[in-house]
Amino acid sequence: MKEELLKKIEGAGVVGAGGAGFPTHVKLRCTPDTVIANCAECEPVIKSDKYLMEQNAEEIVEGMEAVLACTGAVKGVLAVKQKNKEAVRRLEEAIAGKEKLSLHLLDNYYPAGDEQQIIYEITGRVVPVGELPIKVGCVVVNAQTLFHISQAVKGIPVTRRMVTVAGEVKAPMAAEVPVGTPVPYLLELAGGAVVPDYTVILGGPLMGRVSEDPKSEFVTKTTNGIIVLPSSHPLVEKKTDDFNHQLKIAKSACCQCNYCTLICPRSNLGLGVSPHKIMQALTLNNASILADGQAALGCCNCGLCTYVGCNMNLSPNRFIAEVRAQLLAKKVKSNQEPGTVNLFRNESKVPSKRVIQRMGLTPYDIDIRHIDTIQMPKAVRILLRQHIGAPCIPSVKEGDIVEAGQCVGRIPEKALGARVHASIRGRVVSVNSEYVDIMKV
Ligand code: SF4
Ligand code: SF4
Repeated sequence: MKEELLKKIEGAGVVGAGGAGFPTHVKLRCTPDTVIANCAECEPVIKSDKYLMEQNAEEIVEGMEAVLACTGAVKGVLAVKQKNKEAVRRLEEAIAGKEKLSLHLLDNYYPAGDEQQIIYEITGRVVPVGELPIKVGCVVVNAQTLFHISQAVKGIPVTRRMVTVAGEVKAPMAAEVPVGTPVPYLLELAGGAVVPDYTVILGGPLMGRVSEDPKSEFVTKTTNGIIVLPSSHPLVEKKTDDFNHQLKIAKSACCQCNYCTLICPRSNLGLGVSPHKIMQALTLNNASILADGQAALGCCNCGLCTYVGCNMNLSPNRFIAEVRAQLLAKKVKSNQEPGTVNLFRNESKVPSKRVIQRMGLTPYDIDIRHIDTIQMPKAVRILLRQHIGAPCIPSVKEGDIVEAGQCVGRIPEKALGARVHASIRGRVVSVNSEYVDIMKV
């Protein structure tokens, strides 16, 4: 049973759709006691999982059952924000009579969808820095991934996903779109940008990445949002300001008030994350403060220290991300067990509304329309790396006619990876080591 399910999930190219795209058939080779469905969707503005839950609650629950069958876990908990009332109602209906499954209602705080927060809320366990959730008997799977697993069980590969297009567009929307859809095509479907000088963020506004060239971007299995903001928006300025310029300001302006660490959700779980220490090390040019990695390695890049914590308008999250990357490149590992969880953790949670207000996102955090069926794009680009691991090897050549769902890229021998599939029927017009272009026929 387990091997058969894993084979189907591998064949369908399922990856973690809410994160970096870790191949799901590899992730599920473990024996947790608890499977957690991450339906928290905590990034402001993004409504992809909300609509997915409202439209496809049964499939998400089918995915949970498949994961339970695959891993042998004794229980599955779906963690969803109680503010998403319709999604809660649909999920409640879908789990009715299923003894191993239950709902856990989350407050509307940021970052409620952080894996560490969800695991602690549900089980009271904290994953040591550098370890995976299985270390504490858990596996966390995102709502979109569960939907894809339910389809994989039926033999349907990953060719579509729910995407939010919002911000400064005429008609913000959420829709299920083919993987490989050009980003400009989706901006057009959303009525186009309504400001002349705009920036596109792929993913959530806080944790997503600023696109350097939106015309050359395509939807992948992990694209949950396309957010358009004025280029002069404070959030964009924070994300794109020159690193050395920020460093110069930080060196003179950081007053070591410690607010960034006090607000840090990973610090409050006893994981030793200390953005103020990073700032101290930079200010004093004293790298020894960071040598053991404790202050940086447990950071999840949520950005709270920067967007809400720092009253001096500094960006500790950018420095901690840089320090963390350098430590990881040097293979520095944390060897400390988690410390004590802050007794006042609940009180220190930051309401999402406050984050939204602080970052000037209130005008964009609105109810948006959900579109059932979009007009299909005339061409798609299937990237050969949409996952953690090695890029796929193309399994088609120029001129081939491919069907929607046909595998166009396979995992290299003995490598970590996930297959990719054509998302529309069409002719292969270009193939190289990075992508397969398909034109509708
Ligand atoms: S909150 Fe800002 S000023 Fe205070 S320690 Fe952190 S980075 Fe420095
Ligand atoms: S980005 Fe800042 S607040 Fe978030 S986990 Fe990292 S240090 Fe903590």
